[in-house]
Amino acid sequence: MSFDFDATVVGAGAVGLACGRALSKRGLTVLVLEKERHIGQGVSSRNSEVIHGGLYYPTGSLKARLCVEGRRALYDFLASRKIDYRKCGKLVVATQEAEVERIEAIFEQATANGVEGLEHLTGAQARALEPELNAHAAILSPESGLFDSHGYMLALQGEIEDAGGSVVVSAPFEGAEPLPGGGLSVRVGGEGAMQVTSRLLVTAPGLSAQTVAATIVGYPASDIPAGHFGKGVYFRLVGKAPFDRLIYPPPLPGALGTHYRKDLGGQAVFGPDLAYVETEDYSVDPAKAEDFTTYIRRFWPSLPDGALTPDYAGIRPKLHGPGESQPDFQLHGREHHSIDGLMALFGIESPGLTSSLAIGEAVAAALTETA
Ligand SMILES: Cc1cc2nc3c(=O)[nH]c(=O)nc-3n(C[C@H](O)[C@H](O)[C@H](O)COP(=O)(O)OP(=O)(O)OC[C@H]3O[C@@H](n4cnc5c(N)ncnc54)[C@H](O)[C@@H]3O)c2cc1C
Repeated sequence: MSFDFDATVVGAGAVGLACGRALSKRGLTVLVLEKERHIGQGVSSRNSEVIHGGLYYPTGSLKARLCVEGRRALYDFLASRKIDYRKCGKLVVATQEAEVERIEAIFEQATANGVEGLEHLTGAQARALEPELNAHAAILSPESGLFDSHGYMLALQGEIEDAGGSVVVSAPFEGAEPLPGGGLSVRVGGEGAMQVTSRLLVTAPGLSAQTVAATIVGYPASDIPAGHFGKGVYFRLVGKAPFDRLIYPPPLPGALGTHYRKDLGGQAVFGPDLAYVETEDYSVDPAKAEDFTTYIRRFWPSLPDGALTPDYAGIRPKLHGPGESQPDFQLHGREHHSIDGLMALFGIESPGLTSSLAIGEAVAAALTETA
């Protein structure tokens, strides 16, 4: 049977585009569907743009493996395409003696995960690097960095299109139905509503992962993990950025916690916190500046009064509720839902951006090896 496309990808965020690129690289004709008017308007445009080392995740998990592999691939990709990035390094900081044990555990986890170049620093060594830092001890992760995620997504789009694929915006995926001889029929809404056939289907719709899976005929409801929205807000510093490196206190339960970064424009940004919400609400409550100030002064005691201004918010597509442990990325292939040619992604929260190229390769390999 001939199909209109070899592969259709739902969602033109960093992960959907990386899946589209990985499938294009294998010589497949690819269609990427995006419901918004532009690519990269979802979770991929509301995050910290940090290239994570891969320190925290349980060894052997997809997060640990795909973050380390994805980070290495991402630096190569950015350098070869001349996309802006800065391998500025990161300090994980114990601000008092009681936190030393926690950063030691992170060091051991990171070493087991194969993260390169980690160093133990005393408080004095950390202050020699970042003089305004309050640190009892720290871990230096030289592989951590920052990048221009929009430049990255545009480059992915360009590579899909150069390979003959299409990235179509204002084109919401409305559902799919497996065809008797293999492949799927895909319904696309919007002004150019159409129906296409595709041998393979990848769903990477970020916060809509659960609702999108539910529109696929025959997708077992029991295989759709419950989703939660984990909102995080950011505040920007009015004034000169105090540190060059990323600064992370030990993580909060369920998130890496409020950290510091000097963005590519040289401005200091703090965040994200974590609050569970029911709807996609991106407002930033200015009253949170007080809690942020208290928190930040643990590692930057000289933060001036009134120096934080509300910036933006992002929402994590979480698979765990408050107090529950954080699960791994979920890449659900045939063994989960019994539908040939379908890969459904769930819970692609941090470090999804860092891992995106490796997720794309893993998805493409799984689909092309079994298809
Ligand atoms: C506050 C915050 C901070 C973070 N910081 C970092 C970080 O520093 N480093 C890191 O590595 N990761 C970070 N992450 C995680 C990272 O941003 C995500 O893992 C990643 O961006 C997810 O990309 P995605 O393509 O899966 O989702 P998205 O970017 O949300 O893309 C999904 C796309 O699908 C589209 N879509 C949805 N439904 C449909 C439909 N029916 N039809 C067509 N299109 C549809 C959406 O419009 C969207 O464009 C952070 C996340 C948050 C929220």
